[in-house]
Formats: sequence, structure tokens, C-alpha cells
Amino acid sequence: MIKSLQLRVLPHIAYRDEALASRVAQELGIDRSAITEVRLLRRSIDARQRTIYVNLSLEVYIGEPAPALSFEPVVYGDASHGPRVIVVGAGPGGLFAALRLIEKGCRPIVLERGKDVHTRRKDIARISRDHLVDPESNYSFGEGGAGAFSDGKLYTRSKKRGNVEKVLRVFCQFGASTSILADAHPHIGTDRLPHIIEAMREQIRRSGGEVHFQARVDSLLTQGHKVVGVFCHDGTTYQGPVILATGHSARDVYRHLHDKGIEIEAKSLAIGVRLEHPAHLIDCIQYHSREGRGKYLPTAEYNFVTQVAGRGVYSFCMCPGGVVVPAATGAEQVVVNGMSSSLRNSRWSNSGMVVETQTDDIDGELAPFMAEVMHDETYAQNHPEALGPSHPLRMMFLQEALERLTWKQGYCRQTAPAQRMTDFVHGKLSGDLLSTSYSPGVVGSPLHFWLPAFFTRRLQEGFRQFGRRSHGFLSAEATLIAIETRTSAPVRILRHTDSLQHIRFEGLYPCGEGAGYAGGIVSAAIDGERCADCCAATLGL
Ligand SMILES: Cc1cc2nc3c(=O)[nH]c(=O)nc-3n(C[C@H](O)[C@H](O)[C@H](O)COP(=O)(O)OP(=O)(O)OC[C@H]3O[C@@H](n4cnc5c(N)ncnc54)[C@H](O)[C@@H]3O)c2cc1C
Repeated sequence: MIKSLQLRVLPHIAYRDEALASRVAQELGIDRSAITEVRLLRRSIDARQRTIYVNLSLEVYIGEPAPALSFEPVVYGDASHGPRVIVVGAGPGGLFAALRLIEKGCRPIVLERGKDVHTRRKDIARISRDHLVDPESNYSFGEGGAGAFSDGKLYTRSKKRGNVEKVLRVFCQFGASTSILADAHPHIGTDRLPHIIEAMREQIRRSGGEVHFQARVDSLLTQGHKVVGVFCHDGTTYQGPVILATGHSARDVYRHLHDKGIEIEAKSLAIGVRLEHPAHLIDCIQYHSREGRGKYLPTAEYNFVTQVAGRGVYSFCMCPGGVVVPAATGAEQVVVNGMSSSLRNSRWSNSGMVVETQTDDIDGELAPFMAEVMHDETYAQNHPEALGPSHPLRMMFLQEALERLTWKQGYCRQTAPAQRMTDFVHGKLSGDLLSTSYSPGVVGSPLHFWLPAFFTRRLQEGFRQFGRRSHGFLSAEATLIAIETRTSAPVRILRHTDSLQHIRFEGLYPCGEGAGYAGGIVSAAIDGERCADCCAATLGL
């Protein structure tokens, strides 16, 4: 017999198999020995009150063995004779597009500018060790895209549960723990993602697709208003319709599209800093206990949002027990982001603290900053158009200007300017800094002074409000690390809502986060699948 059960229990029961089985037996009024397995379907923590509860959704097997934890694996057949589709970018968008194309009988040719996921590690290590950023191999570029060395949190705002579950099942099929199918906040972890990505690539190849590394696409081949293929940096061309899944950091791609007259538009994005607390402090605050999370609870998370002077100020991509990483993709930039391993066991917890920035802020509150930027001769020479009020790349210019300013404030290395949270709020330089997880190192810097007032004023007020809501959160033990600019794409590549093809160029499917249609691993993967479906349908499959 199988019974479904909803339980609300204390952590020491929820996280111990034997204690949970006994509690389930008690709840069902049966003998413990009759239970063969208690299977977790969903788990979420309710930490709103002083006593922490864990809400569980369970399937209980009584007097019969539980079947192996199952999900229907997708069958990837031989697509080697199918019509060819070019997929540019091997991030979650590109990889899921390629796998879906195989399901539909198309042969994907994946072109990735970076290296395979394992070789890529060495270049990532060099960023911290030697302060050298390889513009083709870094935290954003390389197999797996920005999704490879990420936190691997798999939640999404997508309302289509079926699509989300399919993506989670595919992750499981390629090696993720099936626990992601149950957890309310599924998390893979940066240590596990590379193996999963590698298994996906091998499947694409086994099914007759191709995956090419160090194959940067430099331009789209067009015939009239039709995209018919791509041209790579080494002179190779590939013919076929194109799914363009190049992520939010491929600025050369945006420039190329703009130069070629392929319609794109500026898009609002969130900009701010990374905020790092000791993980224990966040555990104490969130679990209302001086002991922190204790033996059973996971490292605590938080989520803050408010409005200050007409703009949203909020926490973004929180990484409990994680580290802050150098996410620049080129020279003369400092950009930070956050990630954590599957165990979430570092000494710190960090989160982006960002301000919603709209496209017309460039001509409004941010105009003095942009004017100042143009006084910097090197920048002005390289970007004479940057002040054009309606330029589609203006949000990208803002990102570039802020990242360059941060690099200068960080002594022209990957060291990041940093300040204690309370000093930032009170407008004081930090006399000393705490140790942080940011491995290239931090330098004390008055962020409140040199960041545009548009951000500082809102972040300062936001922090005061969050500190009032959550006692201890506004803390001298927390460090702000600049700057977080890559929260989403600075442009949207315009596409039809039904066919997902570009509004004017047939055969071009702008896809994933870089095209402005996704934010995060799962939504990029879902968008990849949708683009593949539309492309296959156009090919008659
Ligand atoms: C440190 C970090 C932590 C993150 N943590 C999370 C998280 O926990 N959860 C979450 O949901 N999201 C997270 N994200 C965001 C997530 O990784 C992205 O939203 C997601 O990867 C977007 O997928 P994508 O396929 O659209 O683009 P990307 O992953 O950016 O992939 C784009 C790919 O295209 C390639 N490319 C670019 N230009 C070219 C070209 N010209 N030719 C060929 N190839 C090209 C790039 O090399 C890259 O591999 C994190 C990101 C970072 C950087």
C-alpha cells in the first residue's frame, strides 16, 4: 500500500530518516516495521516563528517495496541524418536546445567560444591567482556557460510547472541527485554541475550532433532578411538556422547585431554590490537562535525586497555557505557574483544587493555619471556613441563604465573595492576589513563616495530598512564587495512571441538569458527547449 502524507515536524525529525519513519508510523497509527520506505516529495522550512518547522510532503510505502526513484528518461535517438541546426553557446539555453533538437530529429551543431568544462577550470583559477582574465574562458564563457560554475540553484519564476519538471528530470538523467525533484529550493552545487554538463555533451555527440569548443561565432551569415548560418573566428562557416544562446556577457555579439541592423532594444537591469556576512550570523538571524542552524538545518537563506525612491532594491541570487567570485569577462573590468558548493559549507553567506535600473535612468539620474565617464578619454574614444539617448546598447555602456570604474578603484587588478556594511550606510571609510571569501582579495574603498548616488542612496536606505526588519542584518561584520552588474542581459533581441524567430530575420532564434528571455539556469533551459521546438516545427519536424 502507498499512502500520501503531509507533515509539519521539527528539524531533528525531518532530517533523520529513522526519526521520520517512526513519526510517520505514529501519524498513520501503524507499526514502524510495516513501513518499507518513506519517500520525500517536497520539503520546505518554515522559519517565520521562533520554533522552526519543516513542512514535508511524503509518500509512504507500507508492506511493499518502493520502486526505484523514477522519472521517465528522455530517449535521445540517432539524429545524425536530421536537418542541421546551429546552436551558438553551450550554456543551459544552448545545451537544452541541442538536446531537444535531437528529440525532434534535428542534428545540432553546438559552437562554443570557450573550452570544455574541465579545461575551463584552470583559466578560472588563474583569475584569482594571477589576476588574468582570459576573454574566451572565464566564469561566463566556456562549456556550461555561466551555469557551469554557478550556485546551481534551480528555482525559477516560470509558471509552467511541466516545463520546470522536465528540466529537472533531464538534470537527473545526466547525473543530478533525484532530491532536486523533491526540494522546494532545489540546488545542484558548483562541484557537481561540470559532470552533468559533460554527460549532456556526450549525449549530443552520441546522437549524431557536434560540439565544437574554441569556436567563437563572429558574425551571422544572412541572405536578405534570412539568417542562413554563422561565420567563426577561424574562418569556418556553418550553414543552417541559428539558435543564438550566447548569454548576457557576449558584448561582441550585441555589437555585431547592432552593426548589422538586427533589431535589439535596451532593457532594464539590476545593479549593485555583493554583500557577504558570516554564514553563522545569517543562521542566527534567520533561525532566531544564538546557536545558529544547529545540527540539522541547512545554511540559512534570506530574501529582502523594498522600494526606495521609485526603484526596487532587493537581494539577488543568495548563496548560503557560498563564496564571492570574480566574474569579469575581459580586461579592465571588475565584476563579482556568488556561488556555492552542494554542501553550502563555506564560512560565509552572500547575496547580490541590487537596485532596479531602468533604461531612462541613463538620461535622468545617471546622466551626470555618464557625462563624467565620457571625460575619460579612452572610454570616450572607444564609445563615442555611448551618450546617445536612445542607443540600444546604452545599458551595456553603463555596465562597462561601472565595471571599469570598479577596476580602477581596485588598483587595476582583480582585487575588488570593499567596505563594511555599516560604514557604507554611515558614509565612512572602513579602517579595516574582515576576511572575505573573494579569492583575488579586496581593498578598502569608500563605495558610498565613488559609486553613483543613484545606487548608494537607494542601497543605504534599503540596508537600513532590511536591518530594521531583521535585527542584526545591518552589521559591521558584513562586507560590501563591488560591483554586481551582470544580473541579466542589458538588451533584448526582439523576436516573435509565437515563432520565437527574430522579428525581421527569419532563421534566427534569439534564446536564453542573453536574448533577454530568461534569468537563471532553469528559465534559460526552458527557453532553449522552446526555441528548439519552434525551429524544428519550421523545419517540418
Ligand atoms: C557565478 C554565477 C552564479 C550563478 N548562480 C546561479 C544559480 O544559482 N541559479 C541560477 O538559476 N542561475 C545562476 N546564475 C545565472 C545562470 O548561470 C544564467 O542565468 C544561465 O547560465 C544563462 O544561461 P544561457 O544559456 O542563456 O547563457 P550562458 O550560461 O551565459 O551561456 C552562454 C554561452 O554562450 C557562449 N558564447 C558567447 N558568445 C559566443 C560566441 N560569439 N560564439 C560561441 N559561443 C559564445 C558562452 O561562452 C557561454 O558558454 C549564475 C551565474 C553566475 C556567473
